[in-house]
Amino acid sequence: THLALNDAPWTRSTCAYCGVGCGVLLRNTAHGLEVKGDPDHPANKGRLCSKGSALGETVGLEGRLLAPEIHGRPADWDQALDLVASRFKETIAEHGPDSVAFYVSGQLLTEDYYLVNKLAKGFIGTANIDTNSRLCMASTVAGHKRAFGTDTVPGTYEDLEEADLIVLTGSNLAWCHPVLYQRIMAAKAARPEMKIIVIDPRRTASCDQAELHLALKPGTDVALFNSLLAEIARRNAVDPAFAPNVAGLEEAFGNAEMDDPAVTGLSPEDIARFHDLWIGTQKVVTIFSQGVNQSSSGADKVNAILNCHLATGRIGLPGCGPFSVTGQPNAMGGREVGGLANMLACHLDLENADHRSAVRSFWDAPEMPVAPGLKAVDMFRAIGEGKIKAVWIIHTNPVVSMPDADRVAEALKGCDFVVVSDVTRATDTARLAHVLLPAAGWGEKNGTVTNSDRTISRQRPALPIPGEAREDWRQIAEVGRRMGWPRAFDYEHPAEIFREYAALSHVAARFGRDFDISGFESLSLSDYDALSPTRWPVNETRQGGRFFADGKFFTPDGRARALAVTYRPPAAKTEKRYPLRLNTGRIRDQWHTMTRTGKTARLSAHLGEPFVEIHPEDAAAKGIKSADLVRLTSPTGQGIFRALITEATRKGDVFAPIHWTGETAPSARVDALVASVVDPVSGQPESKAAVVRADRFEAD
Ligand code: SF4
Repeated sequence: THLALNDAPWTRSTCAYCGVGCGVLLRNTAHGLEVKGDPDHPANKGRLCSKGSALGETVGLEGRLLAPEIHGRPADWDQALDLVASRFKETIAEHGPDSVAFYVSGQLLTEDYYLVNKLAKGFIGTANIDTNSRLCMASTVAGHKRAFGTDTVPGTYEDLEEADLIVLTGSNLAWCHPVLYQRIMAAKAARPEMKIIVIDPRRTASCDQAELHLALKPGTDVALFNSLLAEIARRNAVDPAFAPNVAGLEEAFGNAEMDDPAVTGLSPEDIARFHDLWIGTQKVVTIFSQGVNQSSSGADKVNAILNCHLATGRIGLPGCGPFSVTGQPNAMGGREVGGLANMLACHLDLENADHRSAVRSFWDAPEMPVAPGLKAVDMFRAIGEGKIKAVWIIHTNPVVSMPDADRVAEALKGCDFVVVSDVTRATDTARLAHVLLPAAGWGEKNGTVTNSDRTISRQRPALPIPGEAREDWRQIAEVGRRMGWPRAFDYEHPAEIFREYAALSHVAARFGRDFDISGFESLSLSDYDALSPTRWPVNETRQGGRFFADGKFFTPDGRARALAVTYRPPAAKTEKRYPLRLNTGRIRDQWHTMTRTGKTARLSAHLGEPFVEIHPEDAAAKGIKSADLVRLTSPTGQGIFRALITEATRKGDVFAPIHWTGETAPSARVDALVASVVDPVSGQPESKAAVVRADRFEAD
């Protein structure tokens, strides 16, 4: 784990930011933490983006929470942990297990994530544990499960380089997954015939090298991919060898035929060009991300994409397949450990009695919930209604990042008992905590994460844990022990948790599940320390590779499902009072609510203040000039942003980034403008299609 480079020790770890999961080399020196790309990591082969390169500048102790606090006063760990355990126990005794909840994060390492799920689902007996990945990935999980039977990413990063056509759908890969974009650019430089299509209402940096940019109306992706599916049927482009492995194709073709592609607002010529390129190219990878997921029809959008790949057998082969890119560094690990309220660890299903009973007996657990818990939006609603009386929030800032964020703040203010584990007290959520638990941060933690192509990598510590901060798994285990389960939460090292998790995957594999890391069941401590990046599955017969080229899926009959999906417009309608459609997203150099990236001036040099992109005609109609302040008003809230007048945004649409918060820009919390409308299948909020009004703002 330590390399002798330039005569000084370097520690191999993994970047703290996005789901690309780049390997980094870390060295703690007198001048601070040095960081560089790990040339041996398969995700990045030495590359880093601006955020990854600045990791060393964001680990300072300024603003760190260094000791537990109870009601704002310093406390010792025993007092804090005893209080958490006793309040949770009392609440459960009085109101039942579903009166408590956990809201966690894709920032957790797999070991932390596994353990908090074990505590909630196995021992407390509630499935009220959800994660901020609900805001990010839930539609993909639902779409995968509906089509494949499991939440399986079929392909690998190498497929992105081997493809002849890359279709970026609802993904500004150049800014949000920069190293993957760099890999595609390098492949395109070597093979100029490689083509890129971008499907996005906005013209983004990802369009710079694109053959075709389809600036569709927000939320119309199902109609566009249904037009492709109908054209696949019309041209007899269905793969006759693969199609027998797919049930439901005829119904899906029927629905696709009925959707009108004109709702996309695209010209018939552009749509025909898209069909020609997609159907005329064998090696197609369709990459999709938040523009697809964050929608009230997110799961249907995912299935509309998967349908096209399944019908043509473009899946599981080199350079072919649908490919979802994950947002957070361990969003994928969270999916694997059953981090969502409707899942169990190792891709087992909470609602399947056999799966439940296998996990219960493996954990020797007293209680298992039989029904899914509350998904994020419903969870905060239940907190606001007083149905959930105690909540533990770990490494996430829902007061800023949840839709209808003002209501989330009100809900937490009225909650009987709020515990927050974080590295800082300076978040809008931490300020509302009754108990604050100081957590170890990136660079100090020890464990594993999984990236977008199923590669498990180690995060290793290069810095000492400061003050009295503790790793998350240690906090969770301590509370589990104090709540009365000393044996089930008796761990001394994350490797023990990882081994247990690998053994549970052995059980899951017996149910024909895809997630299998049973090859790690007997990993020694030194093997765990030395673990190199490994793509799952990992068992006696197999390591890594692609899924589904053999036509075998994880459904009861082994066949994939084509879903008959139909276009539905975004839930909120534009109207006279709110005539503009608000799209939200990331910018290149910031991460989430800026609690880390905001620490370095270098990253703020790119885009330094909250802004709203607005089309010149919409700006002119309201007398808004470049760099004016603009007030956006939606049915749920309002915010002030700097006007950035640009034709990159469609007339009728505006775009604002998600990063600025109560701390950095109290009046620019964009998620206060987003209504808490969710996809009925995935529970994922519609964060990219709010309705707003824009007015020139003049300070009094
Ligand atoms: Fe980190 Fe993602 Fe950048 Fe890689 S691409 S360095 S994982 S932020």
